[in-house]
Amino acid sequence: MIGLAPRPIGILGGTFDPIHYGHLRPALEMLETLQLAEVRFIPCRIPAHRATPLITAEQRLTLVQRSIADQPGFVADDRELRRDGPSYMVDTLASLRDDLGDDIPLCLILGADAFRGLPSWHRWQQLSELAHIVVMQRPGSLSSLPPVLEEFIALRLIEDVVALRQKPAGSILFQWVTQLHISATQIRALLAHGQSPRYLLPEAALAYIHDRALYRS
Ligand code: ATP
Repeated sequence: MIGLAPRPIGILGGTFDPIHYGHLRPALEMLETLQLAEVRFIPCRIPAHRATPLITAEQRLTLVQRSIADQPGFVADDRELRRDGPSYMVDTLASLRDDLGDDIPLCLILGADAFRGLPSWHRWQQLSELAHIVVMQRPGSLSSLPPVLEEFIALRLIEDVVALRQKPAGSILFQWVTQLHISATQIRALLAHGQSPRYLLPEAALAYIHDRALYRS
């Protein structure tokens, strides 16, 4: 234990179209390394930055639920599915604050690719008023960031996970995670070509995909 301050809650948003081990293994490393109380997986209803997913939001949520069911500390959160319109993370964090109060540290967990695109997110500067940002770093992933992001980082950078507990929001931490070169795009392509994505995602998720004949082109 790092002390008596409340343990932060990790927030992992995504399309999860479908969820895979490239999400799950880093999320577990975050749970343990940052000593989080939990990691909340929050599938988006309508992604703000990409094409409409091939399967329904409810099916993506089910895939998440089945994949995390046996992992203590992993929680599926359906709040974005219950909200109309595009799924903006700033609204999601505000709604978590309404539920959880202002004191508990929240850690918005982002892949390095998502972090790089942050300046295009709706009201992105406000994200750090609501949560810390933890970037899952990979080699070379942070070279030549846009100047506006460099400036954003410089004001907020911390190097010690303990600092995540000292205030509820406002810091940025870069955290190394095991590199798994897996993407949902790759899994969808395999399925569309009648090939197997086995071992790239949990068996429980794959069984559901096969049962419902999802992602067949
Ligand atoms: P797609 O291939 O459809 O773009 P994806 O596999 O990147 O999807 P998302 O649901 O878009 O999955 O990702 C949710 C979050 O997980 C994002 O912050 C993303 O950067 C991160 N992420 C996705 N894949 C990995 C991976 N292999 N390693 C680390 N982080 C990842």
